Amino acid sequence: MRIAMIGTGYVGLVSGACFADFGHQVTCVDKDGDKIAALRRGEIPIFEPGLDALVNSNVKAGRLDFTTDLAAPVADADAVFIAVGTPSRRGDGHADLSYVHAAAREIAAVLSGFTVVVTKSTVPVGTGDEVERLIRETNPSADVVIASNPEFLREGAAIRDFKFPDRIVIGTSDERARKVLGDVYRPLSLNKAPLMFTARRTAELIKYAANAFLATKITFINEIADLAEKVGADVQEVARGIGLDNRIGSKFLHAGPGFGGSCFPKDTRALVKIALDHDVQLRIVEAVLAVNDNRKRAMARKVSSAAGGSLRGKTVAVLGLTFKPDTDDMREAPSIPLVTGLLDLGAKVRAHDPVGMEQARRELPDIEYCDDPYACVRGADAMVVVTEWVQYRTLDLDRLKRELAHPLVVDLRNIYRPEDMAALGFIYESVGRGLEP
Ligand code: NAD
Repeated sequence: MRIAMIGTGYVGLVSGACFADFGHQVTCVDKDGDKIAALRRGEIPIFEPGLDALVNSNVKAGRLDFTTDLAAPVADADAVFIAVGTPSRRGDGHADLSYVHAAAREIAAVLSGFTVVVTKSTVPVGTGDEVERLIRETNPSADVVIASNPEFLREGAAIRDFKFPDRIVIGTSDERARKVLGDVYRPLSLNKAPLMFTARRTAELIKYAANAFLATKITFINEIADLAEKVGADVQEVARGIGLDNRIGSKFLHAGPGFGGSCFPKDTRALVKIALDHDVQLRIVEAVLAVNDNRKRAMARKVSSAAGGSLRGKTVAVLGLTFKPDTDDMREAPSIPLVTGLLDLGAKVRAHDPVGMEQARRELPDIEYCDDPYACVRGADAMVVVTEWVQYRTLDLDRLKRELAHPLVVDLRNIYRPEDMAALGFIYESVGRGLEP
């Protein structure tokens, strides 16, 4: 199969490299000339474990290349995937579809022979209809089918998720398109990934419903964590106790500072807007959004009260800035409202992140960045764990205690054991782990 991947970001680059690894001939296209130039030099513009080796081996094998010009790869392709960004539109929270529409017009102009154009970006229900309209308007004689194939990979585990997915959703009722996409994903049948064919609009809604459900699960356990703190219960045991029930499942039940990232916030916002456009109110999803926004900001107050009620003039060391471990992605990271809140409360903030500091500087220019976690906590009045990078779990706690001016640790990811921290003489606050009276 010949594949053109339009958009070479977290999703496009991983999907393109994995398709090439399946044996397909893939060209990844991006408007960003710097990104394409870097990829051609063998440099990976994002941090994603294993991606470097996967891209380079497939480039060497002659199955993967990069360009800024979509004309030739689209003309040659059996399937063209649109994997451009769909961020929140400034001001109203709807998904911004301008990149998808622009890509559709550009693709339309150069289509040749039977082609399946597949929207991999997360898009509101009905976007496939609009992409189809734009393509037919630009190129009325094109032999083309527009399908939806939402992507469920997680940053940080993207290659594994792509190669061993829980399911692949393909939204098209057209038999020729089903055959092409069945062939594209055939190598995954070895991994027993269920291929699920649906109508296009159903596939589009599946993606938003999945993200909204996961965001709800996180927000639910976060609220239970607040209650656990008040009543003297341990939210981690509550999560285990409910998660062992198969109807609930144990994943996404980790209490923390509120969800962030490149998908959940924007997709829950967009889903609420999509529903309102159809005179439906999704009150659960609305509540999830409101609770989560409040929570992220409230984390700064949690630090302040742990520090005795005032942060003015105090130095706070923040460990972890990216929205989760194993990525350099800072989009809507909980660290941003937390750090901003700390600064608003008069604290000085120092921060460390294993890979995200360059990206973080753009979002948080007014703080000090440190090259290692021990330097970050040196002389600080409090340490706050925001992202649960594995290297923070294994820090030398004795040394941390010696480096801190005041032995206060606020652990927003519950990575340490309260007993250990108490035994070492820390003042230790975590999330939802109340003490039995
Ligand atoms: P991204 O911002 O990392 O990458 C998008 C890329 O598209 C950019 O490199 C941009 O330059 C390029 N682009 C924009 N318009 C273009 C055009 N007309 N032609 C060529 N290139 C163009 O975005 P991402 O995180 O990869 O997300 C892409 C889509 O996938 C979004 O809809 C997102 O919601 C969805 N998604 C993301 C994830 C994730 O974990 N990041 C997971 C599942 C789904």
